[in-house]
Amino acid sequence: MGAKSREDGRAFDELRNLKIEAGVLERADGSAYLEFGGNKVLVAVYGPKESFIRRFQRPDRAYIRCRYNMAPFSVDDRKRPGPDRRSIEISKITAEALQPAVILEKYPRSVIEIFIEVLEAEGGTRCAGITAASVALADAGIPMKDMVVACAAGKVDGQVVLDLSEVEDKDGQADVPVAILPRSGEITLLQSDGNLTTAEFEKALDLAIKGCNQISEVQKEALKKRYGE
Ligand code: UDP
Repeated sequence: MGAKSREDGRAFDELRNLKIEAGVLERADGSAYLEFGGNKVLVAVYGPKESFIRRFQRPDRAYIRCRYNMAPFSVDDRKRPGPDRRSIEISKITAEALQPAVILEKYPRSVIEIFIEVLEAEGGTRCAGITAASVALADAGIPMKDMVVACAAGKVDGQVVLDLSEVEDKDGQADVPVAILPRSGEITLLQSDGNLTTAEFEKALDLAIKGCNQISEVQKEALKKRYGE
């Protein structure tokens, strides 16, 4: 095939090392900690609880509020604290990626709060955040039809590869983050940044879904470890 090797020596379809732990915080209703390559992400979930803010009230279901935040020390150049366009976008797409899995109708007028704290970033933090948030939601005992799992694929050196590192994201030609409900295969996030032919896009989507299915097993193990079979 003549496939070029990647900057960290991974095969084109290989994920970075992944570790997930459920229930790491005492005071949150649910929590998870995830390490994925050089990413370190902590998620806390609160709720469902009564929403006192009109804007976050729905008469027939719960509302998911999500805040994705990067710590100032999470990247090489100090990240300016507080929300920016990127973190507001990621907060929004994360809530949208998780919503279809949660049985929101069970909790009318309630709010579920998800706080995603990126402690260290190394490419792919939105996917890491979604994957960890799903474990934290399950840890909070919130009823779900399925988990949500996310992974990106993209194009680097003209080759379609799975799970881009930060260097590959910067030097590469495209990045396609994907989130799925692993049981039904429903896609709840699909973004594409860069240029791909239709064939390359299809290959990237296929690779990302395969990656999601592998990550799904690690999510299950983390919940089994905390709650037993
Ligand atoms: N990044 C950074 N500073 C920032 C934002 C991002 O160094 O202010 C790095 C970080 O490693 C991140 C990567 O660039 O993971 C790619 O960022 P992108 O916006 O593509 O989102 P992500 O891949 O993290 O979902």
